Amino acid sequence: MAKIETERREFIKYSTLGVLGAIFAGGFVFSTQAVKAENRLRPPGAVAEKEFLALCIKCGQCLQVCPYHSIKLSDIGMGHGVGTPYIDANERGCYACNAVPCVLACPSGALDHSCEKAEDIQMGIAVLEVPDTCLAISKTPVPKGYNEKMHRFIEHTKNVTELELKLLEKFDQYEGKACTLCADICPIPNPLSAIAMVPDSKGGQRPEIYDGCIGCGACQEVCPTSTPSIVVKPRVTYEQFYGQKA
Ligand code: SF4
Ligand code: SF4
Ligand code: SF4
Repeated sequence: MAKIETERREFIKYSTLGVLGAIFAGGFVFSTQAVKAENRLRPPGAVAEKEFLALCIKCGQCLQVCPYHSIKLSDIGMGHGVGTPYIDANERGCYACNAVPCVLACPSGALDHSCEKAEDIQMGIAVLEVPDTCLAISKTPVPKGYNEKMHRFIEHTKNVTELELKLLEKFDQYEGKACTLCADICPIPNPLSAIAMVPDSKGGQRPEIYDGCIGCGACQEVCPTSTPSIVVKPRVTYEQFYGQKA
C-alpha cells in the first residue's frame, strides 16, 4: 500500500511538472512568436502592434489595392497573428504611394487613416546592418545577374502593374556599376531627407540614413548582397536608433 502511495505521489509530482513544463514551454513558444510578430514590418499607418492585432479583421483589402504587391498575409507557419498583413522587405518593400491606398482601403482602423501621404508613413528605420558586405564601401560593382534576380519577383506575380514594370526598368542600368541602389531607389518625395551616399573612410562610399526615412524597406529589397547589407528595423524611430536629431 505504501509503495502504491509513493508511486501515486511520484506520478502526481511528475505529471504536475510535465503540465507546468508544457505551460511554460507553450508560453515560451507563444512569447517567441509574439516577439517575432512585434518585429514584423506592418503596412503603412499600422497602429501599435497589440492594437493592430485586435483591430485587423484580416480582410486583405490593403493588399488588394497595393500596386507593388508589397503586402502579404501571414500564414499559419508564422504562428502569431495569422491572416494579418505584413511586408517582407527581402522580397518587396513598400514604395510609399502618394495617397497611401492601402491605408484608405482599411475598413477597421488597424491602418490609421491619419496617414494620408508618403511623408506620414512611419514603419521603421533603415540601418546599414552589415557594412562589411556593402558593395559601395568595398568598391565592388553590382554583380552580373542582378537584373535577372530582380525580374524573378515579377515572374511569380499575377497582374503585374505598370508601376512594377517601371521599377524594373530602373534596375536595368546598375550591373557592373558602383552600387548606389539603396539611395537611388528610395521612393519618398524627398529621398535626400532619408538616405544619401557619403564618402567612407576606406575610400569608397556608404549609405547614410537621416530622420526623413520612413522605413518602407525598398532599400532592403534592392540591396544586391545575398543578405541585405541595409535592413529596416520595424517600429523603431530614427531617434530611438540613431539618437536625437542633429
Ligand atoms: S503605400 Fe503603396 S506600395 Fe506601400 S504598401 Fe501601401 S499601397 Fe503598397
Ligand atoms: S532609406 Fe530605405 S527604408 Fe528609408 S525611406 Fe528610403 S528606401 Fe525607405
Ligand atoms: S544597396 Fe546600399 S547597402 Fe546595399 S550594397 Fe548597395 S550601397 Fe551598400
